[in-house]
Amino acid sequence: MIRTLAAILALSCSALPAHAAPGDTAEAKRLLMDSVGIASVKGRGQTPALARFYRDWLVKAGFNAADIQIDELAGTANFHMVWRAAKAKARPMALTGHLDVVEANPADWERPPFTAIAEQGYIFGRGVQDNKFDVAVLIATLAQLKASGFKPRRDIHLFLSGDEETDGIASAAQAKQAKAFDIEFMLNSDGGGGGLDADGKPYFYRLQAAEKSYADFQMTITDPGGHSSTPTGSNAIARIGLVAARIAGHRWKAEVNDITRASLAEAARQRSDALGQAMARFAANPADADAIAVLRANPGTIGQIGTTCVPTMINGGHAPNALPQRVTLTVNCRIFPGTSIAAVQTELARIAEDPGVTFATGVDWPVTPASPLRPDVTAAVQAAVSARAPGLNATPGMDAGATDSVFWRALGIPSYGVSGLFMRQADSFAHGLNERVPESAIAPALRHWDIILRRLAG
Ligand SMILES: [Zn+2]
Repeated sequence: MIRTLAAILALSCSALPAHAAPGDTAEAKRLLMDSVGIASVKGRGQTPALARFYRDWLVKAGFNAADIQIDELAGTANFHMVWRAAKAKARPMALTGHLDVVEANPADWERPPFTAIAEQGYIFGRGVQDNKFDVAVLIATLAQLKASGFKPRRDIHLFLSGDEETDGIASAAQAKQAKAFDIEFMLNSDGGGGGLDADGKPYFYRLQAAEKSYADFQMTITDPGGHSSTPTGSNAIARIGLVAARIAGHRWKAEVNDITRASLAEAARQRSDALGQAMARFAANPADADAIAVLRANPGTIGQIGTTCVPTMINGGHAPNALPQRVTLTVNCRIFPGTSIAAVQTELARIAEDPGVTFATGVDWPVTPASPLRPDVTAAVQAAVSARAPGLNATPGMDAGATDSVFWRALGIPSYGVSGLFMRQADSFAHGLNERVPESAIAPALRHWDIILRRLAG
């Protein structure tokens, strides 16, 4: 009986102007709460059930079962639906999110993590914020658009991946699948989003258009070793210590793209201190050495102006009375868009100044470029943000990584994180204990996606 209320509303909606606020908050809330009850943690075998739950819901809402595909792979499932335009006037667009959630141990939670509980104005449960909120709202928006008689002028694809939170094997496969559909651009519900201040007033909105890529390098030095009473000139621990110090002290070149330039300029407008002035000067002139020095000295901005690499773990030696035969240093890097992992490894080898260092890395990600700021997408998102909070700018931003968008951008599909969720920082427990969303976030998020879809596909 999920559709009963929607069917009643559909009758009244058809008499409303095109930009009337969507009304069916109760239905989106039900969809969200029911979805939390399916523990779609990779490895638990329930992700395909969540995909089928969404499929059945969409079919009841009038979508064609033949246009929905569920692929079981990599121990999880991917979901895909296409809403076809009768006569397409533009290339297809994609909406994305993920089915899976981070594991949760019930013993640590105050409430059972895989039962949605509405309490004190919030809905609690694992995944209720990341990413089931926006997925439920997206699906409810598509259903409400269909019920209102909306006819897309381009194909709208909905892709939900099965392992965004873990190894991304299904996510990467889904991006390849999307590429074959000639997607013009992608809107990721699992990125970007808004912030509320302590009084619940919106004060920022971030349109995520770039992400750094992530890499761990194991840098190893081996040595014949020997008795600790007869030291040699080449002690592996001493050598790796020097390598670690050189990497920690290295300043990677300052870089900028359209997204970081815009986000630093906007952040600068909101503050008048030395940091704000450095942000403004760097946005105007990315070669300004004084500005670079200030931004590098600040942990909140150093990652916005280039690649960073830091030693994070060290493991070596085998006995207190033996010269070490093997020492491994782990170096974690957050790589600026447009740079390959191989190029970073070459640079690390140069910085190390020790030709005896060998490298291993578990990942081999492609170069992930920033997405160009498309005027149609930025205008649609700005319209949605303005409807929520008049006068508030949708500011482009770069994240430290990584959502599914990295796989799409690597294939040349411009991708934008445009979540409809506005939250207070104090309410955000994604990946943590007692994850929750305010119930009051549902209605504005429905309106957010309604405006964006009408603008870009209407
Ligand atoms: Zn997520």
